Amino acid sequence: MTASQQPSAAPVQRVAQLRAALGGVRARIAAAERAAGRSPQSVTLVVVTKNWPSSDVRALAALGVADVGENRDQEAAPKAAACADLALRWHFVGQLQTNKAHSVVQYADVVHSVDRPRLVQALDRAAVDRGRRIGALVQVSLDGDLTRGGASPADVLALADQVVAAAGLELLGVMGVAPLGNRSEPSAALAAPAFARLAGIGAGVAQAHPKARWISAGMSGDLEAAIAAGATHVRVGSAILGARRDLR
Ligand SMILES: *Cc1c(COP(=O)(O)O)cnc(C)c1O
Repeated sequence: MTASQQPSAAPVQRVAQLRAALGGVRARIAAAERAAGRSPQSVTLVVVTKNWPSSDVRALAALGVADVGENRDQEAAPKAAACADLALRWHFVGQLQTNKAHSVVQYADVVHSVDRPRLVQALDRAAVDRGRRIGALVQVSLDGDLTRGGASPADVLALADQVVAAAGLELLGVMGVAPLGNRSEPSAALAAPAFARLAGIGAGVAQAHPKARWISAGMSGDLEAAIAAGATHVRVGSAILGARRDLR
C-alpha cells in the first residue's frame, strides 16, 4: 500500500472519545436488556456513522464494532469503499430513491428502509444484477407522516410478501423511527407506544415469515424504550460519535 492509499487514522484523542462513548452506549444496552429480562447481547448495536469520516469507522471497527449504518448513498458509497478491507456489515437506514438502488447494493448488506413496491423492485433487480442477496427490513411509518419514510401499517404485510418473493432480497423483519416531538426531535414520551405498535406489526410479519424476526428500533435518545419493546437492533449515532456536524 502506498502512502497515498494508506487509510487515514483517527487521532488518539478521538479514539479515546469513541471508546468511552461506545462503552457508555454498550452499558446502556446491557442495562436495558437486564431491565427487560432479556438475555445479554440479545440486542445488536448498529453504529450510525453518517456525517463522520471513514477514520471514525476504522476506529470503531478496531473497538469491536461490526455493524455500521449510513443514511445517504452519496456519503456512504465512498466511505464503504474506503473501509472495504474491514469486515463490517453495512446497514442502509435512510430514505432511499430507486435510482440509488444500484449503488446501495454494492456495499449494503441490509437495507432498513424498504417502504414501497417500486423500491423492492429496484433493489431486487440491482441485487440480482450484482449477484448479491441483500437483507431487507420493511420500514413502518409510526406517525402517519409518510414523507418521513415508512409504509403505512396496513401495507406492511403485502410489502413483506413482495420482499420474500424477490430473489435478490432476504426479508429480515421490520424497522421504525419514533415520532418526532414538538422540538422536531425523536420524543422519548412518544417512543414507547410507537415501539409497542412496531413490535406488534413485526410479530405479524414474523408469523407469516418465521425467519423475519428483526425489529430495528431505537436511536440515541430512545434505545431503552426500544429494547423494552423488543428491539433486536438499535441504530445509534450521536451518543457515540457526537452531535451532528457537516462532513469535512
Ligand atoms: C441518524 C439516524 C439514526 C441515529 O440517530 P441518533 O439520534 O444520532 O442516534 C438512526 N436511524 C436513522 C434512520 C437515522 O437516520
